[in-house]
Amino acid sequence: MKGTPVQDLPTYEDVAAAARRIEGHAYKTPVLTSATLDKELGARVFLKAENFQRMGAFKFRGAYNALSRFTDAQKKAGVLAFSSGNHAQAIALSAKLLGIAATIIMPEDAPAAKLEATKGYGGRVVIYDRYSQDRDEVSRRVQEETGATLIPPFDHPDIIAGQGTAVKELIEEAGELDALFVCLGGGGLLAGSALAARGLSPEAEIYGVEPEAGNDGQQSFRAGSIVRIATPKTIADGAQTTALGALTFEIIRREARDILAVSDAELVAAMRFFAERMKIVVEPTGCLGLAGLRRSAEQVRGKRVGVIISGGNVDLHRFAALLAGSA
Ligand SMILES: *Cc1c(COP(=O)(O)O)cnc(C)c1O
Repeated sequence: MKGTPVQDLPTYEDVAAAARRIEGHAYKTPVLTSATLDKELGARVFLKAENFQRMGAFKFRGAYNALSRFTDAQKKAGVLAFSSGNHAQAIALSAKLLGIAATIIMPEDAPAAKLEATKGYGGRVVIYDRYSQDRDEVSRRVQEETGATLIPPFDHPDIIAGQGTAVKELIEEAGELDALFVCLGGGGLLAGSALAARGLSPEAEIYGVEPEAGNDGQQSFRAGSIVRIATPKTIADGAQTTALGALTFEIIRREARDILAVSDAELVAAMRFFAERMKIVVEPTGCLGLAGLRRSAEQVRGKRVGVIISGGNVDLHRFAALLAGSA
């Protein structure tokens, strides 16, 4: 954790290189605005709609960037990931597009829809029992059998650089920003966004936004070292990480202005705003940026602000139940 050499950290140049690699493969998602939101905050808000990205979340960017850098030998041996969420689908889809075999390790109790989606993209799913089997052990076994390369969900330079391409596009389209609000789980998106912003809008103040129940990033930012927590209970299932990564923490600690934490009720309010006012389906984790911005109304008055809408993968029954206040 300590003393990660600074030269190992990705830079803006890596984000620019990632943008060239994913061009024509990832979607260039729209930048949305809302007169209602601008009026509410007295600011100009630009929302990067990654809920419209391939497989429904920004994670395709990092996954495709990482896999497209594989050597021929790595391509032959395949890729390995463990995730029950968007990273699994991003790896499975990217691998399919690049002709690489993907093995995804998922817990037995992963939602059936996520399992099916991952299989649908052509990934081989290996199920383990998270109560009786050690995930790392299962992963090691698959690696030994296949020689596959493990790609982690956030703490990897190619993942960080790939995730940063969303903010690169946002600033290229909307112009320089005064502030930027980004969802925070393990920090791949926030770290990459910070690198992109430093290259294109160096004065922008960068805020990470976490669920209150899982504010390990906020604690780590304030403590100056990585704080580890138990798996948090929150509706933001894409931000149920227990600790930042060594690389992501180093970048976040250097570049972020602050880390904010919002309640599940604030996430539901943002989800309702997106549905009612902007006519878009955003998953709870994807609402962190807007919820954090609304918390910061005073600081952003009169300013140009960017928000990342990170994804839209939510089961519609769950979506309806959350909006009805019964979940
Ligand atoms: C993974 C994910 C996040 C968090 O991203 P990190 O890089 O882990 O911080 C946020 N929103 C959605 C929709 C995600 O899938």
